[in-house]
Order: sequence, then C-alpha cells, then structure tokens
Amino acid sequence: MAKIKAIFFDMDGVLIDARDLHFEALNAALAPFGMPISRDAHLATFDGLSTRQKLVILSETLGLPAGLHDLIHDLKQKHTQSKISTHCRPVFHHRYMLSRLKREGFRLALCSNSVRDSVNEMTRSASIGDFFEFTLSNEDIVNPKPSPDIYIEAARRMGLAPHECLAIEDNANGIASANSAGVEVLVVADPNDATYERIAERLKLVEREMVR
Ligand SMILES: [Mg+2]
Repeated sequence: MAKIKAIFFDMDGVLIDARDLHFEALNAALAPFGMPISRDAHLATFDGLSTRQKLVILSETLGLPAGLHDLIHDLKQKHTQSKISTHCRPVFHHRYMLSRLKREGFRLALCSNSVRDSVNEMTRSASIGDFFEFTLSNEDIVNPKPSPDIYIEAARRMGLAPHECLAIEDNANGIASANSAGVEVLVVADPNDATYERIAERLKLVEREMVR
C-alpha cells in the first residue's frame, strides 16, 4: 500500500506565479504612505509571508505605525484582487499534473498563506479549484506559515497522519511549516518546476525509504 495518500499544494510560487503580483500589490498599497519596498527585499525577506506578517516587519524595521495595518491590509487585498485576472491563467502542465495524481488515487488539497478571497479568485482564474477536496487559506487557521498549523489542519481534515501527506512548497517559510507539521516535503523552484514528473519521482523515493 502506498505510504503517501494525500498531496498538499502551496499556492503562490507553486501553482500560481504570484510573486510579482504580491510585490506590486503591496507596493501600491504602501505608496500613499511613502514606504515602498524593493523587489530584492521582497524576495529576500517577505516572500511567502502573509500581508499581516509583512506589515509587522515594516513596523519593526521602518517604523510603519501599527495603526495603519488594517487600512494598508485592505488596500493590498483590493490591489491583489484587481491584478489577479491579468496575472493568473490556466497552466496546462499544472492541470495535467493534478488530474493525473487524482486519477492515481491521491487526495489533493491546497494550503495557502494567502487570504480566502485570493485563494478563491486565483484557483478560479487558473481553473484548478475542482481538483481539491478543500482549500485552506490563512484565515482558516490561527497561525500562518511558518507555523505548522495549516498542514496539521489539512491532515486532520483528511483523517490522515502527517507522514501520509506530501507538501509541495517553494520557499523557506512554507518548508519550515511543512517540516514542523511532520509532513513529507518536495521543494520546487517555481511554478514551472511543479510538474507531475517531479512529484512522481519524489513519491517513488518515499516508497523506497519505507521498504528499507
Ligand atoms: Mg509559496
């Protein structure tokens, strides 16, 4: 019997090429307050964190008043929503990967550090929502990644032990979350690297480790 029964996909950087989208949306929200961040800083420090986590860092490092967090958070989400339709499109190799894994009997879920509206809109624009038993956003758990909450919750909802689940992740915060939840992890470089072949190769490795 196969060891891995469920596969949990991170969204940004795995199924959706959203780095530029989040960078542009956050900067558009920060612009009225004269506090833009650079693309390098976004990649090095902020990538994979929730908007709330990013705002806390900006308060600690640049003195952004905490009283502005709610306003900037709302602005950022509005900019994100308006950019999704131009940034997110169905990707053939992702739809192929998800449908083939499903046909092979794997149970699939999406575990994203984004807000619920972004998860809904992005999965709809990319035509991938129907492949998942459920999707989790950062609003469905208490602590966002790098906390293990989201992967523990996904395994719990499926009635599986964490070691029966494989997470597909692209950055340090997501990898830390998956590792501390005790799920297996496959790290991909970017959405182009999230392919059926990479996952099949990893599943084979996990099976082989089991036999030993
Ligand atoms: Mg990611």
